[in-house]
Formats: sequence, C-alpha cells, structure tokens
Amino acid sequence: MDGKIALEEHFAVPETLGDSREHVRGGGWSILERRLLDLQHHRLSEMEQHGIGLAILSLNSPGIQAIPDPARATAVARRANDTLADAIAKRPDRLAGFAALPMQDPEAAEAELTRAVVELGFKGAFVNGFSQVGDAETVAYYDHPAYLPFWARVQELDVPFYLHPRDPLPSREPIYDGHPWFLGSAWAFGVETAMHALRLMGSGLFDRYPRLTIILGHLGEGLPYSVWRLDHRLSVLPRGIPAKRTMTEYLRTRFYLTTSGHFRTPSLIDAMTEMGSERILFSVDYPFEETGDAATWFDEASIPEADRLKIGRLNAAALFKLVT
Ligand code: ZN
Repeated sequence: MDGKIALEEHFAVPETLGDSREHVRGGGWSILERRLLDLQHHRLSEMEQHGIGLAILSLNSPGIQAIPDPARATAVARRANDTLADAIAKRPDRLAGFAALPMQDPEAAEAELTRAVVELGFKGAFVNGFSQVGDAETVAYYDHPAYLPFWARVQELDVPFYLHPRDPLPSREPIYDGHPWFLGSAWAFGVETAMHALRLMGSGLFDRYPRLTIILGHLGEGLPYSVWRLDHRLSVLPRGIPAKRTMTEYLRTRFYLTTSGHFRTPSLIDAMTEMGSERILFSVDYPFEETGDAATWFDEASIPEADRLKIGRLNAAALFKLVT
C-alpha cells in the first residue's frame, strides 16, 4: 500500500542518543546510532521503498523523561524540538513532528507543547512514560493533580498525546530481579505503559477533559486483550473507582493504538475487534524495527481492504487534520 502514514518513528539528539544503546547487541549499535541521528537520507529512502508517504517523528526513549533536573529537561526538549523542526522544514511533504516535553515541570511542559504546536506546527505531544524529577528515584505519573492544567491545555490545543514506553525503575520492580532480559521492550515496556494508561483512565481524567486523545503503540500494550476482564472485576469492587465510565469505554473513545513493533495479524484483529478499525493506526517503530518488516506484514495482512486503507492512512489523516 502506498501513502501510508507512520507515527512512532524515532530520532535522537546527542544528549539522548546513548539511551538507545541497550536495545541492540554489539555491532548493531553503529547502524542504530546512524539511523537515529539521520533525519533525511536513509530514513526517507526507507520510507520511499516501503510505501510510507509521511512519518511523524519523535525523540527516542526515555529521552527527556530521564533528565531529573527540570531546567535541563526543558532546555534539551527545546533543542530536540528545534532540531526536528529544522528537519521537517527541509521535507515538509514527508516529515512531521511530535513534541518532546519536560514533564518534570508541568508548566514548562505546557509552554513547550504550546510553542511546538503553535509556532513549529507539530502534531501533538510524545512522552516516554513517567518522568524522574529532582533525582533518579523520584518519579511522576501524569494522573497527579499537578498535571490538570497541562491536560486542559492539551485538550484546548486539540492535539493527541502519545504515551510511549520506558522501563520501570528496577529499584521499584523486584519482580525483575534475576530476570533482567524481561526488562525493556520485550515485556516491561508494555506492562509499565498499560498501567500508566490505566492510571489516567481510572483517575477520572477523561471525565474532566472528555476531548483528550491518547495514542498507545504496540497495538495497545496488551490492553485490548485484557480490558473485558479488567472491567468485569472492577465492577464488583465494593468502593468503586474515581472514574465514571468503564475502561473499555475510555479505550474505545479516547485512545488510538498503533501497530508499532507488533506485526502479528491475530493481535491486530483482536485490537480491531475491541476498538474498531477507525482507532488503529499504522506505525513501524523505526529504527528499532525494520520498515520492511512492518510494511510487508501490514500490506499483506488478512484484513478487509477498506480497513487497510483506514489503518494505513485515512485514520491518521483525519486525526492529524492532514490535507490528503
Ligand atoms: Zn518506539
């Protein structure tokens, strides 16, 4: 399929490049490093070769979220967003951007998102899970009341917020002791991010701001498969929860899921069945995944052609108000 739109496609700046080293073995690093820093050449030719018309780029993980000093997090986010804006200016027909945000400081995050959307023309926010604030062991999740003005601004700007994974802190997750291979993108990424999304839902955030839109990668980090049981058991809790509606309702009305890094047709069909094909968006997770793997799988997956067109292009065009 030509003209696909992809939206979990990463780059790095020198300050965040080293964060991605753990995702490859030995010799793979020189390739990954080159691809993360390249915002034009190989990136655009890969897109061309595999039928991707537009990529919405985002900073690598954990990136800004792992910089405990709020002032430095703000400065690096701004530099990263400016670097991305320069790259987009060279090829506005093929590239767009998500804003990296210093969530360590909710007011600074609000200001940077506003600048990125209004002045740089970015398409939304892209945040790598919780932020470390002040020191490496103090973390902030975004259901905290301090973030309410930030969420009000996200809703007012009418742009999506992509909640991307990062690892939990090993000091807080003894279940991984002795099993470090399950940390990272193989497993812990998904569990951590699904739980963060549930915190947002359960807190009542979407009752307060009912027009917020959140995007999750990796076909929803396991949530489509689990959400029925989740609601089934939450419904019998004696004291209930702060949220007014079910997790299924929030997932279906406030979330979009992307195919990033999860190229498996039965999982895609499960996500389509739970969410509706209008809420699924094609993505690769470049350069951590191969564009050819994602595109070949998606182009040939056994789904109706009308759904392929929606997931490959039309849903993203509508969500990001792109002229097609
Ligand atoms: Zn990713």
